[in-house]
Amino acid sequence: MHSQQVTFDVIIAGCGPTGAMLAAELRLHDVRVLVLEKETEPSSFVRIVALHMRSLELMAMRGLLDRMLRHGRQRPAGGLFAAIPRPAPRSLDSAYAYLLGIPQPVIERLLEEHAIDLGAQVRRGCAVAGLEQDDEGVTVELADGERLRSRYLVGCDGGRSTVRKLLGVGFPGEPARTETLMGEMEVGVPQEEIAAKVTEIRATQHRFWLRPFGEGAYSVLVPAEGVSDRAEPPTLEDFRRQLRAIAGTDFGVHSPRWLSRFGDATRLAERYRAGRVLLAGDAAHIHPPIGGQGLNLGVQDAVNLGWKLAAQVRGWAPETLLDTYHAERHPVAADVLDNTRAQTELLSAEPGPQAVRRLLTELMDFDEVNRHLIEKITAIGVRYDFGDGPDLLGRRLRDIDVRQGRLYGLLRRGRGLLLDRTGRLTAGGWSDRVDHLADPAAELDVPCVLLRPDGHVAWIGDDQRDLDDHLFRWFGRSATGTRPGGEVVPVSDRWSP
Ligand SMILES: Cc1cc2nc3c(=O)[nH]c(=O)nc-3n(C[C@H](O)[C@H](O)[C@H](O)COP(=O)(O)OP(=O)(O)OC[C@H]3O[C@@H](n4cnc5c(N)ncnc54)[C@H](O)[C@@H]3O)c2cc1C
Repeated sequence: MHSQQVTFDVIIAGCGPTGAMLAAELRLHDVRVLVLEKETEPSSFVRIVALHMRSLELMAMRGLLDRMLRHGRQRPAGGLFAAIPRPAPRSLDSAYAYLLGIPQPVIERLLEEHAIDLGAQVRRGCAVAGLEQDDEGVTVELADGERLRSRYLVGCDGGRSTVRKLLGVGFPGEPARTETLMGEMEVGVPQEEIAAKVTEIRATQHRFWLRPFGEGAYSVLVPAEGVSDRAEPPTLEDFRRQLRAIAGTDFGVHSPRWLSRFGDATRLAERYRAGRVLLAGDAAHIHPPIGGQGLNLGVQDAVNLGWKLAAQVRGWAPETLLDTYHAERHPVAADVLDNTRAQTELLSAEPGPQAVRRLLTELMDFDEVNRHLIEKITAIGVRYDFGDGPDLLGRRLRDIDVRQGRLYGLLRRGRGLLLDRTGRLTAGGWSDRVDHLADPAAELDVPCVLLRPDGHVAWIGDDQRDLDDHLFRWFGRSATGTRPGGEVVPVSDRWSP
């Protein structure tokens, strides 16, 4: 491949939820983005997925939550871990302490529209088939032979990622051991009859449920063992047969809304970055859908990566900033993979896992245990390692009231934010990247907090020099010329947009 003129700053392979979210995050910083999507039409496969607390927070932070709420159904956040029926603990640490059930195509459409509104270009019917990188950029080859050039490429092209394979990045883990059918359909018998039967079966078989999902529909989950043709999508008859085998009746199921089949393969990319090419979403990690975390994890990858890659493109990124994407997100995905492994074990009908499940069910009566598991699955418990400091350091700050309204409303433009209760600090040299809110009247019990554009707490304190150090660490050289310690930087060395 020969080098060509750079026409885009970033090319994204794949316009699923991760790719669309990343495109929008990059556009907040005027990065020239092209999204290449292999499918000519958006997906019409109407699977309802769960958006969890941290993703709902991110939607609120980017002004998208109201649109999502109009198309989804709010449900209590309990019963998430291995479907153990325990209600959520009271007073979860989020202003959005619920689960939103929403069709995945709706999420994809809203995120794509959001990215396009912000100026991203999306080209459908374009499959990435080759790549070559050099010191200045990446040449991307499409399946039809067309070549495009960009400074960076991000593979958001799903679990079978072409970009990951072209990079030769390892994807270690376990292949699928079991397969499961999942779908949504209507039933032909009364709810009471179903409830009694389901309780009886679930006492020993946890890879099974049949539960009301609103508007007359039921969510159905059954093992796929014996459903032979793995290449073909499952049919309603497959569900009927499996239900009869497990429950002795097919409950008169009819009028399916969507039917799918999934395995429990669990894999994590060895590296999220190889030079100018990065991976995000399912391209970087796959795991069983138990707990409904995959899409959430991908959207959260995108918000972590977006501002860092934008900083790199715009020229103000501190040297190691882009590598913090792998350092922060790889362990989070490893933890999600682990919790899905644990949950999958707890669904087994074997006596050992069933005993562990009973024990865990007892333990979840302890509020702290229940809270820990919910915070894990919904990702509000994520804490990045920013070094020693108070517990809040590295965590996301929940949405709180500030004098000007809601905190998340102030993060909409994807900039840093200094919440300053002392009224005597300044982020002046970084005012092109960081907003400063003096006297926020916020319910904070610390004097001053520096938030990154993804809402994570980058610094807590009340000392200007210490703050300058941290502004430098996360936001690079100041535009007006201060380095840590108040040293003035020569004009030629200052960052200018
Ligand atoms: C039954 C089931 C239930 C689930 N429920 C939930 C849930 O409740 N909550 C949750 O968070 N997650 C859930 N998930 C997981 C979720 O669907 C995925 O994690 C999510 O779709 C990943 O998004 P992504 O954008 O990373 O990848 P994808 O959605 O796979 O998107 C990748 C995109 O890249 C495109 N593409 C592929 N190759 C190329 C190429 N070479 N060039 C250009 N484009 C390409 C594809 O066409 C696709 O549009 C569930 C999954 C299953 C199977």
